[in-house]
Amino acid sequence: MNLVEYPHPALRKKALPVRLIDSKFKILVKEMFDLLYTTSGVGLAANQVNIPLKFFITNTSPDKEPGMERVYINPVVTDTYGMSQVFEGCLSFPGLNIPIRRPVKTTIQYIALTGETVNEEMEGMDSHIVQHEIDHLNGVLIIDKVNELYRPQMNTYLEELEIDFVSKQKTGNAPQDAEILESWEPWISKYGAE
Ligand SMILES: [Zn+2]
Repeated sequence: MNLVEYPHPALRKKALPVRLIDSKFKILVKEMFDLLYTTSGVGLAANQVNIPLKFFITNTSPDKEPGMERVYINPVVTDTYGMSQVFEGCLSFPGLNIPIRRPVKTTIQYIALTGETVNEEMEGMDSHIVQHEIDHLNGVLIIDKVNELYRPQMNTYLEELEIDFVSKQKTGNAPQDAEILESWEPWISKYGAE
């Protein structure tokens, strides 16, 4: 399992709702937590590991306590309140840290790994985190929400990542777009709901 970075096509793919939680799915979730713990991240959406399914994981505790692991399957925002600006980073944009405006409070409904439906109200940083991850599942990225003041410097940064990705594809160090689309098929056919 690898983390994908911009401009990998998985980051722009709208994830499909999950229709099955089986043992293989739970192994996938476990591998995502293992990957999260090798980074300084607090959350990881399935698109970021090239899996176009609608779920994300978080662990917001500083010591990454196992009891703080959360899995949000088919999350839906049911209510929001206010707006606040917070500096956000993203594991798919190395080194980027930009101010993003999002609701101060977000109420979401999702399915937990146990299969039960949960309603939860998130506040402050947690609200930003779940909104950030739900954006990922819709193919929306922090660069789409950036303050205009940051746009010129960010465009240079994005161009570098784009050139790097294309040159890796040309030299065979990154998969071709067609191979990437093909790699999604087994996940979509087994776990995806239209
Ligand atoms: Zn992100």
